[in-house]
Amino acid sequence: VSLRVGPTQEEVRRQNLGALLRYVHLHGATSRAELTGALGLNRSTIGALTAELASAGLVEEAAPRETGRAGRPSPVVRPRSERVYAYALSIEADRLRAARIGIGAVVLDQREAPRPPDLPLEGTWPVLADLIAQLAGAVPAGAVQVGTGVAGCGLLRRANAPAHLRSGGQQAPGPESLRAELGVDSPVVVGNAADVCALAEHIRGAAVGDDNVIYLHRDVGVDAGIIVGGRRLTGAGGYAGAVGHMVVRPGGHLCGCGSRGCWETELGVPAPGTAGAGTASVVDAAASGDAAAAAMVRQFGDWLGLGVANLVNIFNPDMVIFGGALRDVYLAAAARVRSRLNATALPAARAQVKLRTPQLGADAVLIGAAELAFERLLADPLDAR
Ligand SMILES: [Zn+2]
Repeated sequence: VSLRVGPTQEEVRRQNLGALLRYVHLHGATSRAELTGALGLNRSTIGALTAELASAGLVEEAAPRETGRAGRPSPVVRPRSERVYAYALSIEADRLRAARIGIGAVVLDQREAPRPPDLPLEGTWPVLADLIAQLAGAVPAGAVQVGTGVAGCGLLRRANAPAHLRSGGQQAPGPESLRAELGVDSPVVVGNAADVCALAEHIRGAAVGDDNVIYLHRDVGVDAGIIVGGRRLTGAGGYAGAVGHMVVRPGGHLCGCGSRGCWETELGVPAPGTAGAGTASVVDAAASGDAAAAAMVRQFGDWLGLGVANLVNIFNPDMVIFGGALRDVYLAAAARVRSRLNATALPAARAQVKLRTPQLGADAVLIGAAELAFERLLADPLDAR
């Protein structure tokens, strides 16, 4: 039995550097006085940590905004967003996107390309590599790339799933070959689109302060990023969150998974080889006055409310966020969603849940993917550059 000693002074210093950098990454420009309170460290320690992060080129000090209050205000510490950046890639059903995102989640530059319907996952890497090359051509001298985050919907299973447990869905190559495919020289981290959207909205969007969150993402299918007690739910093999295949209507429409009446098919995701109209086109047609489409949107609203009621009963979330095409369904049929929720969910759980659309909009997936790439830097700022 060995006696466990506490962390060394060096370990504490590194943890504190990470905590300070993470704070300004999440909160933006912050005064030394506020950092002292938020991190529970004294003024001289904050000063020393700031100086160290500044000499590493990660933060800078700047004059504070005018507060109108008397006394000499303390300067603010802010992340050097234009200098320290990650690439964020989003693989979607009909388009591929790449962004260069500065620390502090500042979208510095963005490119996109259409994705032909028959382009398989392996065919997306050269297109993404080209988008990255375009972004790289505009990077200012002296900027530092810390990593690349990749998010995909339905195609990429959750990154922590051990390879031998993965089946179905398409798999991304391992991190090393992905680096070569994409032509980047920093680490590549892969995540599920619904998960990274949930993460982004949880740390800097609609769900800040809420630790039980369900982000519903509709792109290829319907998937959920689920945060329980502040932690991402992954499941035993990385498959948790496949809410699109919850059966809501036995004997209903044929789903791409082989079952019938899955939530996502009733929400307008056509099974491959069938001639169903997609969710977004139905919502568009309803908005331009098509009566049959409007009836379908009301029906979507009922199915959406029923599925959400089941999720609310199981997870008792603080918030459900409707992303992708579900945002449009929710906005077009909010009363139906709420009414079905009220008719089906347990009273206490439904009274607590807030229904929202993404505050970060279409950038949520890119900002979330970038968070994956920043994680290593934030965990140990001086080691990861
Ligand atoms: Zn299914």
